[in-house]
Amino acid sequence: MTNGFPSLVLNADFRPLSYFPLSLWAWQDAVKATFLGRVNIVSEYDQVVHSPSLEMRLPSVISLKDYVHLNRRPAFTRFNVFLRDSFRCQYCGLESRSEYLTFDHLVPRSRGGRTVWTNVVTACQGCNLKKGDRLPEECGVRPIRPVFQPTTYELRENGRAFPPNFLHESWNDFLYWDSELEE
Ligand SMILES: [Zn+2]
Repeated sequence: MTNGFPSLVLNADFRPLSYFPLSLWAWQDAVKATFLGRVNIVSEYDQVVHSPSLEMRLPSVISLKDYVHLNRRPAFTRFNVFLRDSFRCQYCGLESRSEYLTFDHLVPRSRGGRTVWTNVVTACQGCNLKKGDRLPEECGVRPIRPVFQPTTYELRENGRAFPPNFLHESWNDFLYWDSELEE
């Protein structure tokens, strides 16, 4: 029970805080935030929890009362670099699972390249090896698109391409409703 019944966490605009990884809280945290008045319950599971003084259905979807701004700069992490690049090698364009991906410095560190958003790209192991310690113009291994500093909003939009492993029916309306309307 402790691992089941996660709550989908929506921003105050009723859009998920994050798609990949999907913004989920353990039910205990969702219940606590409800009692602290920080979230509204949007949808519920059938599952009920009891305490000596009350009985409540576990929230399946909650929304934050205070809007979290997504224009902040996202953390520079390996995962977020892969997410910016949609888990695609930026040299050959092939999509892979993260365990087969590496990240590559456009300007190699040995040549003074820094580990920053604008100098690091997702690369498959083959392309990484092929490029080695050379500059793109020396070896002809070039990124397929410009390398940029993403916003949290852009990362969230990229995350929509990666459906979660578990999808409760009450989450559907908040996750993919607009993509279906566009078709
Ligand atoms: Zn590649």
